[in-house]
Amino acid sequence: MLIALASYAGCILLSLLIADFVTGLMHWAEDTWLKPGASPVLDRYIVNDNIEHHRVPGKIRSGSYCETNRVCIALAVIVTAILALCRVHLWEPYLVVALLSHSNQVHRWAHSSRPPRAVQLIQRTGLLQSTAHHAEHHKRPYASRFCTLTAFLNPVLDRIRFWHALEKIAVAFGATVQRATPARGGY
Ligand SMILES: [Zn+2]
Ligand SMILES: [Zn+2]
Repeated sequence: MLIALASYAGCILLSLLIADFVTGLMHWAEDTWLKPGASPVLDRYIVNDNIEHHRVPGKIRSGSYCETNRVCIALAVIVTAILALCRVHLWEPYLVVALLSHSNQVHRWAHSSRPPRAVQLIQRTGLLQSTAHHAEHHKRPYASRFCTLTAFLNPVLDRIRFWHALEKIAVAFGATVQRATPARGGY
């Protein structure tokens, strides 16, 4: 019984860490490679919001639940449908997607001085990111703490310069880092 419970807890924690890594990958890609003008759809649903968030981080609190979470929920519905169509029966991938569907809500709580009490308690454990943890992402040169769910992966990925290494590879293949350029408002 105890072993089964520990196994479930381990799977849940691993799912959370995988979801956290995915948020880091998506967020890093948005911040690093996207600039306005490449695609009206990307501009409307991702690029403009991303740039606005870095110009005025606290504004994320003023949006409605729907405005905060609609893009992540829409993507999660699509991925869930694909998993179901591919007859994936394991529950862990669905949990990862469910966590990702509300990753921007967790991000929003990390910009709130008074999130719900239960959230504050979980933030203290590091299972959800705290305001102090995420605040480092909004400091120059805006190149660290890309993961937005937990407080566990960012220190490791930043210590080994994971995102920097990925950028070096992409730049070697001709990509241009857009972060902090005039095209993105210079943040
Ligand atoms: Zn960012
Ligand atoms: Zn933020």
